[in-house]
Amino acid sequence: MPSTRREFLSRSAMAATAGLVLSQAATADSSANVATPNFGNAKKPVIITRHTNLPTVGQAYQMLLDGGDTLDAALHICKGQEDDPNDDTVGLGGLPNEEGVVELDACCMHGPSRRAGSVAAVRNIKNVCMVARTVMQRTGHVMLAGEGAERFAVAEGFPRENLLTDRSRKIWLLWKETMSNEDWWGPGLDSPEWKPPAELARNVAPRNPQPDDVPQIQAQAKRLYAMAADIGIAPADRQHAVRRVLFPSTGTIHASAVNTKGEISGATTTSGLEWKIPGRVGDSPIIGAGCYTDQDVGSAGATGSGEENIKVAGAHTIVELMRQGMSPREAGLATLRRIARNYNSDMSKLRYVDMEYYILRRDGEYAGVSLWSSAAGDGRKFLVHDGTQRMEPFVALYQGTYVEWPIVPKLK
Ligand code: ASP
Repeated sequence: MPSTRREFLSRSAMAATAGLVLSQAATADSSANVATPNFGNAKKPVIITRHTNLPTVGQAYQMLLDGGDTLDAALHICKGQEDDPNDDTVGLGGLPNEEGVVELDACCMHGPSRRAGSVAAVRNIKNVCMVARTVMQRTGHVMLAGEGAERFAVAEGFPRENLLTDRSRKIWLLWKETMSNEDWWGPGLDSPEWKPPAELARNVAPRNPQPDDVPQIQAQAKRLYAMAADIGIAPADRQHAVRRVLFPSTGTIHASAVNTKGEISGATTTSGLEWKIPGRVGDSPIIGAGCYTDQDVGSAGATGSGEENIKVAGAHTIVELMRQGMSPREAGLATLRRIARNYNSDMSKLRYVDMEYYILRRDGEYAGVSLWSSAAGDGRKFLVHDGTQRMEPFVALYQGTYVEWPIVPKLK
């Protein structure tokens, strides 16, 4: 019994507050349940991912047919790319930051257990997608970054190794030698200070060059080939190296996998933007941006301009829009429109933005959507395996080719 009126009032207030909290929780719970339709299970396993030259997607599909875990299947694909020194967008041989150091980002979400793990800006450890899973399985955290993530990985038995292959080092050297002040330093695309460089239209070496651009691109390429030879880049590698410098591209691998038990998972891994500022973290390790999986709804992942994707929490937005009833394709296009909205649909800026989403619903429905219909003049495609492995075209919000940013380095 409360001994004083003041104590009585304060206890009643606490009880009332507790009641309020409980009833709010109940409301939130039930509204979350009401808002999620029952999508049912996929009739056959489905995997969606980026194009890969390795046999890992077929192997991952077999894992699902054999009753394997959906996250194990998605990670099998990501790890395969990390192990491949010829994929210079992830893991070993990933193109480095502006100081020539490889820094990797990765995350994963396991639908059935509703858990997630992530690592960012990790040096010297190749299989960061597996480190992300280890963070999920063996710590009370979701995300580890930088030196701490590296030390955690080593403590868990991941070997420290030099990720900068000779091939990537020489491409970086070629970039260093041609570097101008048009890099990641200075105002970003979303800053009022940002201006398209006057010479951009001519210097950018557009993927679909106009007749006027060709002589300049050819002259730049000729100089770069000569410099590549000086640096010691093997003749067979020169074209790739020159291309990487002329078109500083990006790359990442995302994989989402669903099985017939209605279990779904996703994982994303990357070396991020090449020549980035050390310490830069992109969208790939951000749960909700580079990857998001909700066991009740589906899974989504992203490749492309990480900064733009973080600002719309792309993967999470897609999953929530699917929860509200949009198809994978509608949800992806609606999320791309949010990126366009951030620039008031200003094409003079959006032409520098690249974005692709890989979307898989729990019932096996899927879509690949992209902001632009082509890159390097080619139509863009993603890989699907649902018993048959094939490439399918992305559905694009805009027809055209996006222009790579930063622009082509000027020659000294
Ligand atoms: N999204 C990655 C990043 O921003 C790069 C990419 O996918 O190309 O780090």
